Amino acid sequence: MPIYEYRSVKKGCNHCSKGFDVIQNIKDSPISACPQCGAAVKRAISRFSACVIEGAPETASVENKLREYESEGKWSHAAELADKSGLNDRAMDDYKKAGYNF
Ligand SMILES: [Zn+2]
Repeated sequence: MPIYEYRSVKKGCNHCSKGFDVIQNIKDSPISACPQCGAAVKRAISRFSACVIEGAPETASVENKLREYESEGKWSHAAELADKSGLNDRAMDDYKKAGYNF
């Protein structure tokens, strides 16, 4: 479920003036008041969508590892990893470089 950050619109208490996180279902309506002091709050940012924009860290580490194997000429290692990660074209390429024939 996404985490939403809320912040007081004007002056709030310690809880809401710096912003606080709320885990909410996408279908839930946004909170309009601070649960501690009742000040009006506004949704600031959704961490969930921020994550999507940055890209999954898993994909990044696979890519890094692949480059490492490829730069070291470990084609079969690279091919296996690409294969497991669903990068079929990359796997094929690396298998060929490893000397496999399809
Ligand atoms: Zn408050």
